Amino acid sequence: MISQTTATKRVLVAKPRGYCAGVDRAVQAVEKALEQYGAPIYVRKQIVHNTHVVKTLEERGAVFVEETEEVPEGAIVVFSAHGVAPTVHQEAEARSLRTIDATCPLVTKVHNEARRFAAGDYDILLIGHEGHEEVEGTAGEAPRHVQLVDGPEGVASVQVRDPERVVWLSQTTLSVDETTETVARLRDRFPALIDPPSDDICYATQNRQVAVKDIAAEADLVIVVGSGNSSNSKRLVEVALDAGAGASYLVDDASLIDDAWLSGVTTVGVTSGASVPESLVEGVLAYLASHGFTDVQEVESVRESVRFALPHELRRDLRASP
Ligand code: SF4
Repeated sequence: MISQTTATKRVLVAKPRGYCAGVDRAVQAVEKALEQYGAPIYVRKQIVHNTHVVKTLEERGAVFVEETEEVPEGAIVVFSAHGVAPTVHQEAEARSLRTIDATCPLVTKVHNEARRFAAGDYDILLIGHEGHEEVEGTAGEAPRHVQLVDGPEGVASVQVRDPERVVWLSQTTLSVDETTETVARLRDRFPALIDPPSDDICYATQNRQVAVKDIAAEADLVIVVGSGNSSNSKRLVEVALDAGAGASYLVDDASLIDDAWLSGVTTVGVTSGASVPESLVEGVLAYLASHGFTDVQEVESVRESVRFALPHELRRDLRASP
């Protein structure tokens, strides 16, 4: 229940927000690798899409690279939560790299689905954003069977070999509502379209969208904490606006909030993407408090309890160490 006292400037904080189980695992994997093996630890791509997380890990000795060819032969490299194509594993093996695969298990699930449907010679319509690392990794599992569908507008240009053997899969961090629309349009064209065996949009993405919807309709402004390259964070801005927020902005941290956004505002909603540490949300709440927004209510929409074990290569070495 959201309460409203007269004329107070209030803040509604969405819950769940921030770190998901896959991000927590990936960040911990780099931290534990630094403790176990010492710096430098190489990380292919940003371990998670958050500027602050990357900077903090860099300060501790992580070296972020774009491709495995930048990693010295024999060194340790961590693959990010977004997953990699099989060719990246092959390149790493060719360079004798020691790999720690921090791919989120829920991304691995989609990779497995892509492999399985490709083995059955289905055309796989992968709904996702062109150029996103996760999409490149998933498509790389079955490059001859996968074609990308970038939202509802991408449906018209899809061509399949056999309309009776078509399945859709998706990136894990999409807007649930927009994906529903994309699938409906695909099904109009291909009535025999097969659904994934279970939701590809992950629990954390879905829950954060439900939670922001629950506060957006009452908010004159929704501030989403997250980085500009974070798919799930950007979706939260869109969902907030669709759900009735007066305005919504994505900020990396409190220093990027424009005072003008608060003009005439009495209720501010706050949430954060799945790769955002809580300290950055606390910074935003402190900024808002300093501008008179002192009535802070947390609105819990869904309770989360998902946890993932560390990557097995790391667990093995941690177990073996004294
Ligand atoms: S957003 Fe979802 S798929 Fe991505 S790392 Fe988090 S739990 Fe895994």
